[in-house]
Amino acid sequence: MLSGFGKNRCQKCKTERKVRFCLRFNKDLGWQCCNNTRIDKKCPGECAYHPHFEAVSASKDADPTKPKSPFPALKTDSRSEFEHFVSLYLDLWIHHKLPELNDLSPLEYAKQDKEAMLSWLRSFQYPENFPLGKLLAKLDIDLEIKTTLKPDPEAIVQSYLEQVIKWEWDGLYAITPNDLKLEGTAANYASLISDIPQLRKTKEFDVLSSGISQDRSVAFVFVELNHSVSWTLILIELNGQWHLRQHLASDPQAYYAQNKLYNDLAQLLSQQNSVITDSDRESSSSVIPNPDRESSSSVIPDPDRESINENITKLLKDAFKTYPDCADLYYYQGLYLQGIKQFDQAKTAFFNAITLDNRWTAPQYHLALLHLQSHDYDKALYWFEQQHNLEPSDPRTLNNVAACYINLGQKDKARDIWTAMLTQYPEFTIAKDNLDRLSRDL
Ligand SMILES: [Zn+2]
Repeated sequence: MLSGFGKNRCQKCKTERKVRFCLRFNKDLGWQCCNNTRIDKKCPGECAYHPHFEAVSASKDADPTKPKSPFPALKTDSRSEFEHFVSLYLDLWIHHKLPELNDLSPLEYAKQDKEAMLSWLRSFQYPENFPLGKLLAKLDIDLEIKTTLKPDPEAIVQSYLEQVIKWEWDGLYAITPNDLKLEGTAANYASLISDIPQLRKTKEFDVLSSGISQDRSVAFVFVELNHSVSWTLILIELNGQWHLRQHLASDPQAYYAQNKLYNDLAQLLSQQNSVITDSDRESSSSVIPNPDRESSSSVIPDPDRESINENITKLLKDAFKTYPDCADLYYYQGLYLQGIKQFDQAKTAFFNAITLDNRWTAPQYHLALLHLQSHDYDKALYWFEQQHNLEPSDPRTLNNVAACYINLGQKDKARDIWTAMLTQYPEFTIAKDNLDRLSRDL
């Protein structure tokens, strides 16, 4: 194991990251040294991390008819830390003679009567993360534990980072919530993630802490890469499973700074005044939307424009350092590039945003528009259709799909869509206008 010498190391082992102040030794400790210390039951009661060895209920909603746990209750900052402590504790506990086991140790008792031991163990309640398999293994009881628990955020992060360490980038997309299988997104994700220098260099990682939001929809796992780099992985729950949403090249607090960042970017972009924003969606409903139309009406003098552009570029560059795979940042980057008429780069940025959040329709709309503008009608059709799949009740998207068919020379398909829209969306008069125009053209 590598040893770090920075001032953020544990003052006992000098190896792990320090995470808390130890009242007993007046030292900053990592959680492994804290566990190794508090296992001897001699930590002062004032320390929040001192284990409660007196018999306590396994959890606050424990069944009162069940006996209290023979294991201590304690504060831990991650499941990894909890399991480490329990493992240390079990190593001592299995040899400790207990009056309720006829003054035999759990190990002796299990050897004598496996069934009686199991039935005694079954009389207790255990916390959700209690490593029962480990307990049985230490007691030499060969019994498979069937668990209905889904893999927790730490287990998902472990599987993700183990693949990162092996440079197995292709398997990572399946761990994200992006399940729509859109064209090219899986390969693009592998490419985006493998381009993150800290991840390319990752050889090992240690969990520092983890947590789940109160509504249990978002989780974070804070790790240290290669004993030096702070890294946070954000997970969201989808279809009853945890998925990896985002990396933060920082501690978990950076997650909350994102909203301000988006506000700053949106404000700068509105000053740039040459971008298509979502409020422009209405005007895209004509047969051939023109994403370029606004820039010609801009009245901002060039020097001001230049400094605004510089600010946006700098803000984006800094932001990507902390949020290397943030869909929103790529989206704003796309808007910015569109505003300065770097259309090909803007397409890449919008495609990256789609890759990182494939149920977000705004970048799909902009990417489709850009393809329409560059006469790439197949691609424009593809992305308008994806947008339509996600927002099936928005007539404007359907109208854009029909517009692509016109450009592809498939007038019958366009006519069918607009005709259906007459009854489905009678208030959407653009469909009627387009149909009229179509019949005049014939
Ligand atoms: Zn230590």
